[in-house]
Amino acid sequence: MIPVRDDLRALEGYHSPQVDVRVRLNTNESPLPPPAAWRDAFAAELSRIEWHRYPDRQATELREAIGAMHGVPADMVFAANGSNEVLQTILLAYAGFGRTVATFEPTYQMHAQIARVVGSTVVEGERNADFTLDPAEMRRVVDAARPHVVFLTSPNNPTGLVEPAERVVELLDIAPGLVVADEAYAQFADWSALSLLDEQRPLVVTRTFSKTWSMAAVRLGYVVGPTWFISELDKVALPYHLDVAKQIAGRLALRFTDEMDDRVRLIVSERERISDAMRSLPIDVTPSGANFVLFRPQTIGGRALWAELLERSILVRDCSGWPRLADCLRVTVGTPAENDEFVAALQEILR
Ligand code: PMP
Repeated sequence: MIPVRDDLRALEGYHSPQVDVRVRLNTNESPLPPPAAWRDAFAAELSRIEWHRYPDRQATELREAIGAMHGVPADMVFAANGSNEVLQTILLAYAGFGRTVATFEPTYQMHAQIARVVGSTVVEGERNADFTLDPAEMRRVVDAARPHVVFLTSPNNPTGLVEPAERVVELLDIAPGLVVADEAYAQFADWSALSLLDEQRPLVVTRTFSKTWSMAAVRLGYVVGPTWFISELDKVALPYHLDVAKQIAGRLALRFTDEMDDRVRLIVSERERISDAMRSLPIDVTPSGANFVLFRPQTIGGRALWAELLERSILVRDCSGWPRLADCLRVTVGTPAENDEFVAALQEILR
């Protein structure tokens, strides 16, 4: 056996266990597929592809379409295979060996994971017990570590909390490096850091097609940021990293914004319904601006509740063994019927 890089030896991969169940509410996907008209348009364009040619390396039409949606030019947009690859590309360009990345925990595990894989030092700031972020802690971490990249996830995963605009502005005022706002779930929330984008500010915003656009299978994400930032990403992205089918899939999806908005409205109203139902039970519920809810049962252990749900063929994410999340579970908002089953199971188990 050949030894792996010394700094990777202690690192574990990212795990999201899948079990065959009737009601799958564990990976924050959309419970609904994209519109049939999107599928038809996609199939029609696929039939015209010149498969022996490389795709457009710049993904020009896709980036123009994304830019048009956000009211920015294509040279403020970079797309890649899921927002995870976008995050990796950002960290390869702006972090990497010898540089420092800051996160505020608990948050999306891949920020620290990718940072470590690209050789960066990770500094973990702490959140309050209610998972909000104390400006004093933010300042402490920034002053102590002088990070090259700082992440804020809004809405945060796995807590669901939306970071207030003031917090992002405060961070921008003190951060010595790049501020990455991970907005994988932003359409479910009531504000977006996109409104703060400015050529003079080191703020970038990442988004994904995996959630609101119902396209997790496609693996497509993007970042919007200043042109000086976007142009550096080309140096680390692999040639032709975005295949032709994905470029088409993403471009066509943006023709169905109304359907996307309808799905988001349904999920937000279902999120409030299951949050209220859980609050009427002995459960602590974290207010969510996303398509999932973090909760903690008061009368039974988190792991025990997870197992009881699984016995009823309902799978939620077990966060109970994660640092800072003792006894917490995370449920993705499903279809109304799936949510009914989830709530009924909780009532049966906890009453
Ligand atoms: N950011 C956050 C906060 C997420 O929760 C996820 C998905 N779990 C991602 C990024 C990655 O999404 P994808 O790679 O599917 O775009």
